[in-house]
Amino acid sequence: MSTIHILPEYLANQIAAGEVVQRPESVVKELVENALDAGATSISVVVRNAGKQAVHVIDDGKGMNADDLVMSIVRHATSKIASESDLHAIRTLGFRGEALASIAAVADVEIRSKHRDAHQDETGHLLTSKPGTPPTRTPIAMSPGTQILVRNLFYNVPARRKFLKSDLTEFRHVSETMQRMALSRPDVRFTFYDGDTLVFDVRPSDLYRRCLDILGLEGGSGLLAVDGNESGIAISGFVGLPRHARQSRSGQYLFLNQRPIVSRQLAHAVLTAYEHLLEHGQHPVFVLHVTIDPHRVDVNVHPQKHEVKFDDERSAYLLVQSAVTQALRKAEVIPSFLADVPIASSPLQSLPQQTGFGTTYVNRLTGEITHGGGHNLNVFQGFGSTGAVRSAPSSMTPSMFSAAAAPSAVLQIGLQYVVTSTQEGLVVIDQHAAHERILYEKALQRGNGSKNSEQSLLFSVRVALAPSDVVVLREYAEQLQTLGFRFDVHDGTTVEVHAVPTDVMPGSEEEILGAILDSLRSLGMIPRDRRTEGVAAVYAAKQAIRKGIRLTTDEMQKLVSDLFACTTPHTSPSGVPTYMIIPFDELATRLR
Ligand code: ADP
Ligand code: MG
Repeated sequence: MSTIHILPEYLANQIAAGEVVQRPESVVKELVENALDAGATSISVVVRNAGKQAVHVIDDGKGMNADDLVMSIVRHATSKIASESDLHAIRTLGFRGEALASIAAVADVEIRSKHRDAHQDETGHLLTSKPGTPPTRTPIAMSPGTQILVRNLFYNVPARRKFLKSDLTEFRHVSETMQRMALSRPDVRFTFYDGDTLVFDVRPSDLYRRCLDILGLEGGSGLLAVDGNESGIAISGFVGLPRHARQSRSGQYLFLNQRPIVSRQLAHAVLTAYEHLLEHGQHPVFVLHVTIDPHRVDVNVHPQKHEVKFDDERSAYLLVQSAVTQALRKAEVIPSFLADVPIASSPLQSLPQQTGFGTTYVNRLTGEITHGGGHNLNVFQGFGSTGAVRSAPSSMTPSMFSAAAAPSAVLQIGLQYVVTSTQEGLVVIDQHAAHERILYEKALQRGNGSKNSEQSLLFSVRVALAPSDVVVLREYAEQLQTLGFRFDVHDGTTVEVHAVPTDVMPGSEEEILGAILDSLRSLGMIPRDRRTEGVAAVYAAKQAIRKGIRLTTDEMQKLVSDLFACTTPHTSPSGVPTYMIIPFDELATRLR
């Protein structure tokens, strides 16, 4: 006789319930999803004791006939998909046929439903279910739609019940989900009660109105419209002004085909558009709807269905980044020059870690996403920092320097820092990062038409390149010429250089060109609209003075004044701080 046996159904359901139903919030989410899938235009949700005691969801959707009502709580029973091909293009919020079965395995459930279509059923029906016992069904009188009452969640699974947090915490989860659902479908009315207290009642409207209702922002409060469409992906919605940013990600809502989703990548894409506008640790507010052909996304990667996979993560990332940047630029939150800076900033950034996941890196220039920890970061060294951007002291502005009349004394220490002073205190400048910033902005200005940027070589220099480098050279010829390089490609591997940017030292032409091509090759394809910034950033990183180089007083003074003449002096294009200030106050307290 076999010792292995199939679990009784109620036990199997109880185990499966662990994945779908984790807390009262999961019940609310699943029931509201079902109501939306049933085409409801109005949904009421009432929770008691944060949903631990009861969750009641009432909808005016299409309802169920008597047979469907019985089937609804059977595991793997669904009306939403029938074949494998349906699974590859999910158009409903549910499809796994697990939610009601799971809920019924860990709580008492009453479902009242009447089909909208009178031919289906004359009356409504009530299905009553208790875990481990067969459900009963009786006819009742009601209007079309469905009402589901879930009581005593986890009373038969003490271990799970103990795991629930305080009512306050559980209610917070429920109300976050209600907000998310309300933002996902502004065309549907949502009424939400905490016991007898009305939390919100939002009427059908457009997304703008719904955002104001749900996010609690005063009218016309600077939500900026976001709109974009590329490679079959559309994005629309709103982002908040920098001053609306929060200390947590609580104001961030992302929807894919109207399904609330979590995506570190796309959230990061939004954040990059705000770079230099927010302090470190601040999170922008956004409500963004992404629409994409359901064939191109896989929502079946997690039982709770809030994680998704795109066929083309890069395009989505770049679209979100550029649409949000445009919105901020249009509102003149960022001047158009600054808007280009974040794009060229350190391309490889790690996304916030999530337990169970390896580190994920995003190349902000190309939108490339790399999973796993074993990535070779060295190839990006030319670009500097690979971590999150550390912000330079934002209290410090260039004007403080222009205010200071004659330049203060300068001193080089450790062959890598230039030390000077201002009215505020002692300023320590990283010579490499500062020079990188200066060269970068200079290169971009050149792109904007100012001339006088190249120095013709008395004798042109012949440079031998690998065929792969010649390919890169041809690809970026236009941008390199803008920088001040002039060259002819002779045959497959020989390039004759006639002119180089003025900052390039005689004799180092070959070296700098080789280093730039090397960096560009390892970066991968840079999208057309970012090439100017990308090539400028690579050039600046390669050309900037290294540490270990001794500077003359004149060079140091020029470095200081050039740096603080920059539009964004605080960081290098790779996002590392260019300087720090030790205020006199601090010196005074320390040296007392
Ligand atoms: P899924 O949503 O994945 O199909 P569920 O267990 O959530 O699985 O629901 C099972 C089935 O019950 C659904 O496919 C649907 O046919 C029916 N159903 C559930 N809730 C409702 C509702 N509010 N209105 C109409 N039908 C519903
Ligand atoms: Mg469902």
